[in-house]
Amino acid sequence: MILRRSELSENLARVSARIEASAKGANRNPDEITLIVVTKTFPASDVEILYELGIRNFGENRDQEASLKAPQLPADSIWHFQGQIQSNKLKSISNWADIIHSVDQLSHATKLNELGRNKDIFIQLALDQSENRGGVEPAKLHELVDSISPLSNLNILGVMAVAPLGKDPGLAFKGLSEISRKLSLDYPKITAISAGMSNDFEAAITNGATHIRIGSQILGVR
Ligand SMILES: *Cc1c(COP(=O)(O)O)cnc(C)c1O
Repeated sequence: MILRRSELSENLARVSARIEASAKGANRNPDEITLIVVTKTFPASDVEILYELGIRNFGENRDQEASLKAPQLPADSIWHFQGQIQSNKLKSISNWADIIHSVDQLSHATKLNELGRNKDIFIQLALDQSENRGGVEPAKLHELVDSISPLSNLNILGVMAVAPLGKDPGLAFKGLSEISRKLSLDYPKITAISAGMSNDFEAAITNGATHIRIGSQILGVR
């Protein structure tokens, strides 16, 4: 337990220093970047240690796992869901997730809205449509936002994406920031960008990410 605590503490310090350095390099204020520690597959005891170390934002991909873990943490923890949405799980997801990063179709948004709770969401984009990792194609983003934004229980914070495999993440995230900028011309409040994981968060920060989702660099390999 003590060993795990010092391990997580050191990893966190190292990642935080890298976040700060890349923010500074991009002339950005590091305080404007939300670090979400992705705790999927790791036990609640690890999440508790991270909480004690000051982390409040936690990310999970699976409803079944997170719905057991989340209630074990103090109520001011903020839980993010970033996995692919299964429609029949939305009700359960909305019981524990404060912010859902992976909305990519109107039917899911409608169902979420009907649950009657206010939810912050991101719209997930597919930066490479040959990959089957979820997300709306960029050409259809505007239309999707047009249809989701009237749903009164949902608040669209921004766009979310994962970098395509085997391509320069910097280029991908630059494209994402351009998509975000264009969307904000019509929707000035939709400005957040959820991008960047353990292997590419610096490129994401350079390209304007406001929410980065880091698992293995902090918790170790899954
Ligand atoms: C697992 C996952 C992460 C974290 O991945 P790491 O490479 O461990 O940092 C971030 N975003 C999504 C969508 C994930 O599925």
